[in-house]
Amino acid sequence: MEKSAVREYGKRSTEVVHYLRNKLKCGYCGCPITGETGTARNGSLKRYYKCSGRKHHNGCQKATVKKEQIEDMVISTTIKELSRPEILDNIVNNLLEVQEKQLVKNGVIPLLMQEKKQIDKATENMLKAIEQGVITETTAKRLKELEAKQKEIEAKILIEQSKSIVRISASDIHKYYKDALRYEARALINCLVKEIILYDDKMEIYFTKPTRNDPDENRGFSFCLNTYTEGMAIQLIIK
Ligand SMILES: [Zn+2]
Repeated sequence: MEKSAVREYGKRSTEVVHYLRNKLKCGYCGCPITGETGTARNGSLKRYYKCSGRKHHNGCQKATVKKEQIEDMVISTTIKELSRPEILDNIVNNLLEVQEKQLVKNGVIPLLMQEKKQIDKATENMLKAIEQGVITETTAKRLKELEAKQKEIEAKILIEQSKSIVRISASDIHKYYKDALRYEARALINCLVKEIILYDDKMEIYFTKPTRNDPDENRGFSFCLNTYTEGMAIQLIIK
């Protein structure tokens, strides 16, 4: 048999699903933590996650972690946290805020907003002039023009806002998480967990958002917890 064929066959026959594949990063050296399978002295299979930096002798001392232990913890934490109404409400509110900010940042809207500001300012000056008794035919005409322009631009902004983003409502977001929690473990992690930073004594789980992100704010939000402590304190961080 050719070498590549052996490798391919071997890979398929012994494949173990490492649910956290491509999600784990070493908290000490920043290298990916990869799923490994080895054979114990008694011949049984050992499945674990190991820092790839340590594997390639970069000096990292991150301990290996048993596959089931870390996977169970990530899954149970995700389910537990996202099932708490106050956590979910908090997430939903934050996502709605992010969405509003994106709406303003989006495309032509900032330009329209800028234009609106200038027109508002000009209108204000015109009204001041009128208050001071400076009313000529020209000022009256100009004021009418400005007011028409104001209405026009407000309408344009509304149109842009409605077409440039599909708004996600609070109930959509609730549904997204509730549906995700019903999936089997692998789908749940694939769909909700963005990245996990793993230390020997704690881990940070970063979750994805159902809204689109800018490249510079792509980290989602996170729960911080100690990996191996019972009754651990969990802190929710919204980034
Ligand atoms: Zn490492």
